[in-house]
Amino acid sequence: MTFLYLDNNATTAVDPLVMAAMEQSYRDTPANPASQHQAGQQARQAIDTARHAIASTLGASLQDRQDQLLFTSGATESNNLAILGLAGVEPGKIVISSIEHPSLLGPAEHLRRSGWKLELISVDSNGIANLNHAAELITPDTRLVSLMLGNHETGAIQPVTEIAMICQSAGVALHTDATQVVGKIPVDFNALQVDSLSFSAHKFHGPPGIGGLLIKQGLDLRPVFHGGFQQAAYRPGRESPALATGMQCALEIWSKNATQHENELAQCRDQFEQQLQEQLPWVIILGQAGPRLPHTSNIAFPGIDRQALMMALDQGGLACSTGSACASGSSDPSPVLLAMGLEEEVVGGALRFSFGRFNELQESSRAAEIVATTASRLRGPNPSEKRGSQSPQQGDKQLQ
Ligand code: PMP
Repeated sequence: MTFLYLDNNATTAVDPLVMAAMEQSYRDTPANPASQHQAGQQARQAIDTARHAIASTLGASLQDRQDQLLFTSGATESNNLAILGLAGVEPGKIVISSIEHPSLLGPAEHLRRSGWKLELISVDSNGIANLNHAAELITPDTRLVSLMLGNHETGAIQPVTEIAMICQSAGVALHTDATQVVGKIPVDFNALQVDSLSFSAHKFHGPPGIGGLLIKQGLDLRPVFHGGFQQAAYRPGRESPALATGMQCALEIWSKNATQHENELAQCRDQFEQQLQEQLPWVIILGQAGPRLPHTSNIAFPGIDRQALMMALDQGGLACSTGSACASGSSDPSPVLLAMGLEEEVVGGALRFSFGRFNELQESSRAAEIVATTASRLRGPNPSEKRGSQSPQQGDKQLQ
């Protein structure tokens, strides 16, 4: 069976050009980049080239402004390093949004258990962080703020620059998790005015096993790992020229035709949503009225259990997700959708469909067909009776 893969927010397929560049790198740079001999220096050169190229594509400047780019194992590690490494030693307050990924919430919770105060910025019904609430929460005892750039479940793009202004006037550092945004729409570290930014190669057709943390010059970052001198001891451990080259290659492939890729993703996503709504007018597209990433669609099928629908779609050859891959397996309702204040029936019936560069337009049409047929079958013949007196259209408006 050929699978329709609409779970690109969980991970993307590695681009064959990336694989080729990595294979070449494994052959050309077999030595340890920390070794002093010529072979080691050649490996070091490959790492340095990748580091500069990636930083520059993301609007950071390792030379002029002396920003830093640390290579990590992925965004989970980058988020842990940012939260645990930037918060400081003395317990104070950390403020994060209520829709952060588990890899950011986890270290924030860890700080809370160690005596820190943790406060959550609320979001509106489109999943966008509330600026007034953020301004209220950022008080003199706040040590660190974190607001993701684009949400992993809904694609909602967050007002990060606006929060950066609030943080700057309060003298507080701001981290942003840009994992779902890098390689999808342009990201400019300098223009965002954040202090640190995390990302991960496997979300943009690069290799799994490498991510990055960009940090503004002069920030006091405490390492999480100890016992080596690599990457100025901020993140010790053997660096991989092949993984770094693979990430560089993946980002270059995207950036050469960024606008085209963005438009193609949006076209696939929009056609999927439009066709689905035409066939099932009662479905609700979550976060549709706010700014969204081009590749993410979160759709609620009220009255249908999301887990049952996901499994039925899987049987029909379509891969999608009930939420964050890091939380899947859990039958708990999505904390992101709950934070948006959505009704239980909506949260319980919502699935995430996420597109990637390798999806074709005709696939989105086929996907809409499969989803419409499967959802109609699971819902039964008379949906309006099931929903009681509320008309589907009323429900849709409320939940925009
Ligand atoms: N942040 C966000 C927003 C994500 O979507 C993910 C991956 N689901 C991560 C962090 C964790 O990334 P990684 O798998 O590279 O650790």
